[in-house]
Amino acid sequence: MPTVKLVKLSKSYGDIKAADNLDLEVKDGEYLCVLGPTGAGKTTLLRMISGLLAPDKGKIFFNGKDYTGKEIEERKAALLSQTYALFPQLTVEENILFGLDIRGADERTKEQVLISMLDLVRLSGRSDAFPRELSGGMQQRTALARALASGADLLLLDEPLRALDARLRISLRTELRSLAKTLNMTAIHVTHDQDEALVMADRVAVIRDGRILQIGTPKEVWDEPATPFVANFVGQSNFFTGEVLQSSPLTLLRTPEGTVLKGRPSDLPQGTSAVLGVKIGNTELTKERKGYLKARVERIIFEGRNLHVDMVMDSGQRISSKVPSWRKGKIVAGDMVEIYWEESKGTVFPMPPSGLENELKVE
Ligand code: ATP
Repeated sequence: MPTVKLVKLSKSYGDIKAADNLDLEVKDGEYLCVLGPTGAGKTTLLRMISGLLAPDKGKIFFNGKDYTGKEIEERKAALLSQTYALFPQLTVEENILFGLDIRGADERTKEQVLISMLDLVRLSGRSDAFPRELSGGMQQRTALARALASGADLLLLDEPLRALDARLRISLRTELRSLAKTLNMTAIHVTHDQDEALVMADRVAVIRDGRILQIGTPKEVWDEPATPFVANFVGQSNFFTGEVLQSSPLTLLRTPEGTVLKGRPSDLPQGTSAVLGVKIGNTELTKERKGYLKARVERIIFEGRNLHVDMVMDSGQRISSKVPSWRKGKIVAGDMVEIYWEESKGTVFPMPPSGLENELKVE
């Protein structure tokens, strides 16, 4: 039985649909990342699950019971918000015990919870410190301990790592996930950061305009995107438009210039107007053999491990690729290169009704 089940949840602000008939099931003990661009409806979703915000329509079930109209306190959900607002005048210990104090927990319980929480978030030596005396990461861990100490079994995390520097963010990803797993909590973590979602989640739900476009394991969402938007938001992609010539055992797509491109099998009928997407990391380039397409290298950006290569084709279409850095100097601006990809790396989608440009737009 899923721990959280949302059924046709809707919430509008005037014309804006922050949640649009949204269905979602989160399994017991699962770490789910909700990934989407700014304004997609991520915070709205978490606030409705936590009870801070009432949906216009739809139902929220916890462990099979309808909690739609229930108060926040009844939900056993802890919300950790973007600005993990600790009480500045309270110490780490007082912050962590805040929820238990309000509920009038006895001293013994408080002490036990405090010791285990401090140990868990590795702040045992700092229980008397005030938030201003702590690093960003320590403050974040204090806020997490406070959320966990509330006795919740559902953890709702709203961009919990956003305010931290890059290095800390990366190390806390693993900690946060393993804490949730150790405590056997179900976690719903919203983020706009695809790397964070891919690394942390058991499953990723990609959300846009209040709707879930795809839900699957990180690998599924990465390798088998459901829409061009997902293909581009989760790892940037190059797109080529054309007409389907065949859809099995591979899809063949003929571009307006007459080039035939290959992708994974699809169920698109012959003659359909379609789009083929290839992740830029899977768009290979060579000077040695013939590929599908030709392009001229415009610029190369050194990114450490990879080179990011921007190119332009004769048609004027721009494409990009990532190649390993050891190829630095072997490919230079002005070179003509051949572009290819493994057939299994191309995904063919029907042409979006609103056109490709609108489909890919990130507000
Ligand atoms: P971000 O990543 O920027 O935090 P988000 O995905 O969390 O974005 P929400 O904050 O849920 O998105 O907002 C979804 C949409 O609803 C946005 O268009 C936002 O402007 C709108 N919205 C949210 N809260 C309100 C409000 N109280 N009044 C009016 N519009 C709102």
